[in-house]
Amino acid sequence: VFNFSAGPSMLPEWVLKKASAEMLEYGSSGQSVMEMSHRSCDFMTIIQTCEQRLRRVMNIPDNYKVLFLQGGASLQFSMIPMNLLVKGKADVINTGLWSKKAMKELKKLGTCNLIASSEEAGFSYIPKTTKDQFDPEADYVYICENNTIYGTKYHQLPDTGAVPLVADLSSCILSEPIDVTQYGLIFAGAQKNMGPAGLTVVIIREDLIGKADEKTPSMLDYKTYADNDSMFNTPPTYAIYICGLVLQWLEEEIGGLDQMKTINEKKAALLYETLDQSKLFKAPVAKEDRSMMNITFVTGDAELDKKFVKEAEAAGLVNLKGHRSVGGMRASIYNAMPIEGVEKLTAFMRQFESENLK
Ligand code: PLP
Repeated sequence: VFNFSAGPSMLPEWVLKKASAEMLEYGSSGQSVMEMSHRSCDFMTIIQTCEQRLRRVMNIPDNYKVLFLQGGASLQFSMIPMNLLVKGKADVINTGLWSKKAMKELKKLGTCNLIASSEEAGFSYIPKTTKDQFDPEADYVYICENNTIYGTKYHQLPDTGAVPLVADLSSCILSEPIDVTQYGLIFAGAQKNMGPAGLTVVIIREDLIGKADEKTPSMLDYKTYADNDSMFNTPPTYAIYICGLVLQWLEEEIGGLDQMKTINEKKAALLYETLDQSKLFKAPVAKEDRSMMNITFVTGDAELDKKFVKEAEAAGLVNLKGHRSVGGMRASIYNAMPIEGVEKLTAFMRQFESENLK
């Protein structure tokens, strides 16, 4: 089947085959990666190689730390204010459920200034902002760069001046090249484009580390992870190993993020063209804010949407149901989704349209 799940989601077949060949014994270690001590030479090589590959693939400058954490992207909603609030206030743009959840946690620890929101339009677009809307005294500006549920994406980052930009890239990291220097902190749950659930990656500018209140629990302080190369306690070893394989696939099989972007653009264009030409399906998102990773669409009739999801599943196109908060359909076409999956989906959509258009 082709799996259009929003996450956890498809992994490249190349990665799964390699992991399966190494499942019982990694190299000549006599052990599975799952059974290895995290302090062993083999695992140290795995985590260091994973970090080096991520640095190469994303072109991460030396003044940024890469941290491997647990707790999901959701724990970052709390860790970010715990670690970055000094003056006690942050600016936020509300682009949906995930930024609202981040605002809820921020409000427990400091002042949350809502700068812009697209809530009134069902989060169908990215609010445009200008530099003078942001508080130059804020500790950071927070955005969710790709909105998994609604299918919107920032194609131009807000100009926040000297205030660090903090961004949730859970559902778009590694989909295209980015300029890391534009951000103070980037975070992502791994379970979409990086690997399996259980790993969260934080990329943070060094000067933002070490500002947490001294009462902050060690496990919630970025400094603990930075000072201990993410090995203060047992890291999610198997998820890090798979993330390393995903990065190897990106470097050696795909050829890097420029190539990945070209492939992703082609897949997304195919699906959006089908939607734009359709008389049955509509894409509710503003054209200039469309996501390449999560593509939402509706027929306008909830019963027909349900029928589509059911028949698609029977045709081997699974997990196309939209998020429970918005309904309709959503095709998540992360890096690992082959073009054949999108071709099969668009052919199925055309066939469904011809059978169901009144
Ligand atoms: N942020 C975004 C953009 C997401 O799509 C998700 C989950 O889908 C999350 C945060 C929450 O991630 P987690 O379940 O790892 O906490």
